[in-house]
Amino acid sequence: MSLVDLLETGNVDTFSKARRNMEICNACRYCEGYCAVFPAMERRRLFSSGDLMHLSNLCHNCQGCYHACQYAPPHEYGINIPEVFSTIRVETYKQYAWPNQLSIMFNKGGLIASIAVAVSIGLIIFLCLYFIQNDTFFGIHLNEGAFYKIVPYNIMVLVPSAISIFAILSISISTKRFWNDVNQSNIKIKFSYIKTAIIDVLTLKHLSGGGHGCNDISDKFTQWRRFHHQFTMYGFMLCFASTSVATIYDHFLNLQAPYAYLSIPVLLGTIGGILLSIGSTGLLIIKWKSDPKPQAIKTLGLDYGFLFLLKGVAETGLLLLIFRETSAMGALLAIHLGFVLALFLLLPYSKFVHGIYRFIALIINASETQKDHLNN
Ligand code: SF4
Ligand code: SF4
Repeated sequence: MSLVDLLETGNVDTFSKARRNMEICNACRYCEGYCAVFPAMERRRLFSSGDLMHLSNLCHNCQGCYHACQYAPPHEYGINIPEVFSTIRVETYKQYAWPNQLSIMFNKGGLIASIAVAVSIGLIIFLCLYFIQNDTFFGIHLNEGAFYKIVPYNIMVLVPSAISIFAILSISISTKRFWNDVNQSNIKIKFSYIKTAIIDVLTLKHLSGGGHGCNDISDKFTQWRRFHHQFTMYGFMLCFASTSVATIYDHFLNLQAPYAYLSIPVLLGTIGGILLSIGSTGLLIIKWKSDPKPQAIKTLGLDYGFLFLLKGVAETGLLLLIFRETSAMGALLAIHLGFVLALFLLLPYSKFVHGIYRFIALIINASETQKDHLNN
């Protein structure tokens, strides 16, 4: 029995509901200009579980089709595409998680993120106070290598490396399994498909909803969700670039942090941190204020948990930068590393995987769209 069969066996109601929703939409087609989901739906007559997972991950949850739908609740058809697709997305994250026993972490995303942060920060502070003198932890350190006086170099290198290797392995296995099940027409990946998918991601084209934006909070269209998504994504990328450049400085140029305020790692990290803080805060507010009816309530904890981690990493990093020349540096470094540790530990079991599965859905969509153009 394939993963996709197992998935459907355990979630008959969700998949049956999604299939019924798609069959009604395919007859109606009122929303075909709203997003990439509807043209992709119209290419299909029957909806296998793989098709439904592909369409669910192609959906960016703008809620436009819910507010436009004459068959939405309280109509007896009860069409609610964003809600049913959100539920399927989380079911796919759980089903393809590796090792599968850890898929349970998707059930309580917010709670698990909070526990992970508390435990990580507590553990780092405990180890610091156990192994180094209080005077050192609460001291002022101004020179190169100051951070290593709080957390030794070997720990700072080995722990993140081990966690990153595990996260990459786990996400790679999940991605391969997901690809095998959603690639129903055995697409051979071409450079042009990847290029289109990358442009879609970088511009977040689909979040523009054909130009008018999303129904962020109500039936009024706005671009706020797209902007905050962009801030979050580019902020995360810049923070990652900052860490990568700092790693090169440290290991290949023998230059140790903290770096000058106008150095490349600090500039990248500062801009990235500010964007990430604005983006994650904005998305949290939008999520908090939005209408719960087109959302799958049980998936909200996952969204809140991941945004909380991103916001925590960004803002503690900025605080560390501001106060790094004071006696608060040791405690702020421990708190920042606690957030970073929790984020990377939970990466394969958090909303982060949404970005990977969505990228695969965009590759499949690019291949189908290009074939349509060739056939017309
Ligand atoms: S969501 Fe409603 S209005 Fe839109 S295509 Fe489906 S059935 Fe029609
Ligand atoms: S919620 Fe938005 S992205 Fe998802 S199917 Fe409806 S219109 Fe498309």
